[in-house]
Amino acid sequence: MAADWTNQKPFLVKQAHVAVKHWGGSRDGKMRCGLCGEAFAAGDTARWQFTNDIPDAGGNPFVCVACDGTKEQICEELRTMRREYGRLKGILGRHLADELWEV
Ligand SMILES: [Zn+2]
Repeated sequence: MAADWTNQKPFLVKQAHVAVKHWGGSRDGKMRCGLCGEAFAAGDTARWQFTNDIPDAGGNPFVCVACDGTKEQICEELRTMRREYGRLKGILGRHLADELWEV
């Protein structure tokens, strides 16, 4: 699969993307938004944000249209998630932690 999503521009999620079952950073391997945890479906718009150059952000998440913003906004959101969930972060953090700790 051509990895043209690394140009950090919005792209159309294709069935081939969704079919990949081992996306890094996602415990269940699904392609998920790194901020809200939503699993992408074919036809969605997604964007990949490089963040590994920012201290304490990390993750290089995919983001959905609803969560997308500037790199600074995304990094701040990732930092907030790390504070809230400690070592659980990114996709694991918000998505799974909410499920685990829901009462
Ligand atoms: Zn999202």
